[in-house]
Amino acid sequence: MKRNWFYLGDRKTDYLSLLSECCAVKLEGKSIDIGRAVLAEQVHGDHIHICTESDSGAGFEGREKIAGADGLITAIPNQYLMIRTADCYPVLIFDPECKAIAALHSGREGTRLNITGKAINILKDEFGCDPAKLCAYIGAGVCEDHYEVSEDIYESFINDISAQGFAHRAPHRSLNLRMVVFQQLIKCGITFKNIENIQECSYENQAYFSYRRDKGNNRQINIIGIIDE
Ligand SMILES: [Zn+2]
Repeated sequence: MKRNWFYLGDRKTDYLSLLSECCAVKLEGKSIDIGRAVLAEQVHGDHIHICTESDSGAGFEGREKIAGADGLITAIPNQYLMIRTADCYPVLIFDPECKAIAALHSGREGTRLNITGKAINILKDEFGCDPAKLCAYIGAGVCEDHYEVSEDIYESFINDISAQGFAHRAPHRSLNLRMVVFQQLIKCGITFKNIENIQECSYENQAYFSYRRDKGNNRQINIIGIIDE
């Protein structure tokens, strides 16, 4: 029997500690085999990699992460897609019929490039998912009150998302990524009721890693998998 399983992490299950685990990690009572997890390199782009069986274990035990990818999609049961974040937004998308799932890293660049919309189109076109049935989680990330950027970056971001038809509301020079990602989900046909917005600011809430606050190199992990057991 297939079912979707996901985990939106915080400091309790940090990425660097995970790397030293040898075989399995326990998350909310579920044991995840590290050899079945897949890590994307995360380069602030919009490339989405469709995983194959041999991608299981990428990024662990000396193996390379999935190069150049900020998004992962799989239809393979018991393979776990993992996105690391510390202010950028993790976006997890799943199909209730378990046809396929996506894990995305949507920071400023991923959001500007609409990696979320791109993933939904792949789920629809290549896996036969109906966007109206898809469900999505937008996890913890930095809110607009704690994400001020330079005038140049602000202008370029606003111009690009406006050109794609997305609205933006935030104080001048502040970016509201969550608001844009939400619209990207809606625009692709995911319904309002199927979007779970985890309204936590990683900068404000000390339970999360925040790069802007701590300048550290550790991250929370966000995972999704189709379990078949
Ligand atoms: Zn905040």
